[in-house]
Amino acid sequence: MHAVPLLPIATTEPAIASSGVLKLHSRVWLLRFSGHNAGCMVRSSYVHINRGKGFVLFAAEMRYSNFGVKFLERRLIMNKNYFLNIEGYSERMTDEARERLLQWRDKALLQAKRHTGLVRLNGPDTPKVALTFDDGPDDSITPMIAETLTRYGVRGSFFFVGSRAQKHPEVVKAVYEAGHLVLGHSYNHDRLTTLDPDGLELDFHETQAAIRCIIGKEPALFRPPFGDADETVFRAAAQAGCSTVLWSLDTLDWSQKEAAHIGWNVDSFVRNGEIILMHSHSGCIETAKALPHMIESLQRKRLSPVGLDELLDMPAYRS
Ligand SMILES: [Zn+2]
Repeated sequence: MHAVPLLPIATTEPAIASSGVLKLHSRVWLLRFSGHNAGCMVRSSYVHINRGKGFVLFAAEMRYSNFGVKFLERRLIMNKNYFLNIEGYSERMTDEARERLLQWRDKALLQAKRHTGLVRLNGPDTPKVALTFDDGPDDSITPMIAETLTRYGVRGSFFFVGSRAQKHPEVVKAVYEAGHLVLGHSYNHDRLTTLDPDGLELDFHETQAAIRCIIGKEPALFRPPFGDADETVFRAAAQAGCSTVLWSLDTLDWSQKEAAHIGWNVDSFVRNGEIILMHSHSGCIETAKALPHMIESLQRKRLSPVGLDELLDMPAYRS
């Protein structure tokens, strides 16, 4: 097949050659892929642009001018301006506790804006979300949650506490082998900002080693207990090969625990790119109960639950 260009090929040089995106020229994205070095045209009707909001998704049918190859390519280009406020509500908090929580949320958002390479609260403005589960594993709730996710064909992201992983290695292994992500959440669930530099380094070392001993890989994504982190913690994480991932939607399954309320938080607040916080330690039976309805509801809204690696376009494990 010989390609028929839709518009003349532009001669503009690529702004970002390796990623494939060149430049918006009129209503046409001009693309070039490293390795191919072939200019190509894209029908603007296939291009989905969220300008001004941050991330840009384009799904484009394109034709290489010299090969006439027609295919569909999807790429995500990170733009630094899509930051979600952290949402989620519980009626069961005192005014004082709520005020503290809101202050923490403001601080976390500022950190995410200030340290974009080190900490993330949410993914891009595309119809994907990540279901994340902290504080496991245990031998009942974590397996139950993983089985539900597997039944729905959804990948979950589990932030496990290192010392608990050592107590339940078979659960960690089963979660990993089912295709879910096994990530680190400190060794003893301490407040990491209270540790001295040596203690912090040791904590990362022990957590990474505990997980490596079970699955043969070290996580590249990490979440601090209580979301308690500062620049020192972010840098210690980076030193251990991990990016810090917080969340943008708190189901408050630790405060107002009923399954219906957990689902209500997600239904009420969920946005594109959401990172949804839940828990999978023993005692989180209501979280496990909330999952089927939550997944079905997200899918009805055409939001795909995916692993954090896919949402953030970052590797889950160190290579
Ligand atoms: Zn935790």
